[in-house]
Amino acid sequence: MIIVMRPNVSDKAVMNVISIVEEHGLQTNLSRGDQVTIIGVIGDKSKLLTSNITLLDGVDKVVQVTESYKLANRQFHADYSVIDIGGYKIGGDHLVIMAGPCAVESEDQVIQTARAIKKAGACILRGGAYKPRTSPYSFQGLEEDGLKLMAAARAETGLAIVCEVTSLQAVETASKYVDMLQIGARNMQNFYLLKEAGKTNIPVLLKRGLSATIDEWLNAAEYIMSEGNQNVVLCERGIRTFETATRNTLDLSAIPIIKAKSHLPIIVDPSHATGIKELVNPLAKASIAAGADGLMIEVHPNPATALSDGPQSLTPAAFQSLCEELRPYAALEGKHF
Ligand code: PEP
Ligand code: MN
Repeated sequence: MIIVMRPNVSDKAVMNVISIVEEHGLQTNLSRGDQVTIIGVIGDKSKLLTSNITLLDGVDKVVQVTESYKLANRQFHADYSVIDIGGYKIGGDHLVIMAGPCAVESEDQVIQTARAIKKAGACILRGGAYKPRTSPYSFQGLEEDGLKLMAAARAETGLAIVCEVTSLQAVETASKYVDMLQIGARNMQNFYLLKEAGKTNIPVLLKRGLSATIDEWLNAAEYIMSEGNQNVVLCERGIRTFETATRNTLDLSAIPIIKAKSHLPIIVDPSHATGIKELVNPLAKASIAAGADGLMIEVHPNPATALSDGPQSLTPAAFQSLCEELRPYAALEGKHF
């Protein structure tokens, strides 16, 4: 952190800032020029309320030189993390494919989907049991009964399972069943939920908020990690823009940016990013080319009858041919599935 003082600041004001900073156990480095006076601050800045420093006499501004997230930051963890989800790895040379229905609806629906996605090459089954719907009158999910159906599908197929949690109570219940907890876009800044997931040792799939910056997203990951759970996987799922042709706008640039800023794996969800089944294929390919560690794709045995997100869901047959098409793209990036 650098404190920039106002032009022609008095020695008294400079010494006052230095002594306040040093009283907090931090070191300072003064550079007094004709035009500009700056005070470099070295040490654990969490000991200091930087917004209050800007209020001190003679201070012009405070400039942060390192990001506020540390555990998620690649600066302090150069090697990319590889995270184990029920025996399957996310990160490294394995391209992970997660697929399944938007919502768990019935035993038949989940088992049929699980068998089909496994055959196509997916290793993680997704399915919502707690659905964060825009309208309170839309299908809200089967809750614990849905989790039981997901666990039954795992027992039958050997796939790992990921389910969204929308409350502290849901974290407690889902922890008994799932291999990975999902925190959805709408809850990306639900800090109590993030901390609760951070207290478990279950890997967390953290989706990007609808209007979250990359910095806010990485700080959300930091909330989970600061509670002890280092197993966080990020998921880009599109952000709100002025464009109305798609449900959201897929921010492909987030993939290489995250790769530069963080060691955490990042996957892409082209289904929620676009809301249109025809766009899943080209954007899945683009995501692999941009360096994604995996994909999350909605699949339903009969999208026309789906209780949520039918228009963006692929049939099992369409998913099978998508996976076949994706293999050479993965190979070009030195990945396989
Ligand atoms: C989901 O994956 O089921 C979901 C609701 O996605 P998002 O949080 O990205 O909208
Ligand atoms: Mn959905």
